[in-house]
Amino acid sequence: MPAQLSDPITMVVKQTDDVRIHTFVASFAQNNIANATHVIETENQLVLVDAQFLAPYARAFREYADGLGKPIERLYVSHRHPDHWFGLGTAFADVTVYALPETMTFVDEHGEDSRSDHWKLGDLAPERVVVPQKTADPGEEMIDGVRYVFDRVTDTEIDYHLTIRLPDVGVYVAQDLVYSGTHPYLTKHLDHWSRVLRDMLLSDYEVFLPGHGLPADKNEVARLVEYLAAARQAVGDGLTGEAFKSFLLQRYPERRCPGIFDIYLPRLFGGASDY
Ligand SMILES: [Zn+2]
Repeated sequence: MPAQLSDPITMVVKQTDDVRIHTFVASFAQNNIANATHVIETENQLVLVDAQFLAPYARAFREYADGLGKPIERLYVSHRHPDHWFGLGTAFADVTVYALPETMTFVDEHGEDSRSDHWKLGDLAPERVVVPQKTADPGEEMIDGVRYVFDRVTDTEIDYHLTIRLPDVGVYVAQDLVYSGTHPYLTKHLDHWSRVLRDMLLSDYEVFLPGHGLPADKNEVARLVEYLAAARQAVGDGLTGEAFKSFLLQRYPERRCPGIFDIYLPRLFGGASDY
């Protein structure tokens, strides 16, 4: 890891006879946003979720997966925000990548724009764009003896988001529907996003794997519902830009990764481009 980047956190989140779930979380420090990526390890193979953002973390995530000594059967990209697919070009160009069709089209059409837009990252950005090749279809699928349920969730943190559930293990791979202990990337879809989170709270699932921060339980998901309600109220009260940011920073001093505000505020209030 380069000196300015802290070491990732890696953990085994859940283990049953058939499955071991691993989570890899990048730095919470400075402007980093604690990107969380996951490995679903079954008897013969690995399924990965998301590819990390900055090149050193993408390489370290790949090394972690390779260290498990099983082939990577596939990698799912949850949505089109670059902090979830940049790492494909760094460390997963040889892996079969699945995504929603909308995500594939976006990376195909705008991936290079997004990469050049991040020129300030220097060699922390990938050297090339890898476009997901295979469509992730909503529905059920058995992979290496384990049941997966895929869903296409619209209008939450992003227009199109893939979720992956493992009903027999009680694990819900929610990615950016759940920001765990970190400030979330807010959009205009706060109402619908909250409804999706409320459904999670009433579900049978126990572990919610986020796209940012550490693995979450239902209490953490409930805290995010409350946060979204406060943000919605602040918008209703007319707060925008820096005033909106100060309100949320003061109300939630325990949340990490305030760097996310600078990413989404120009888009939420200023009409900046979506990538
Ligand atoms: Zn994200």
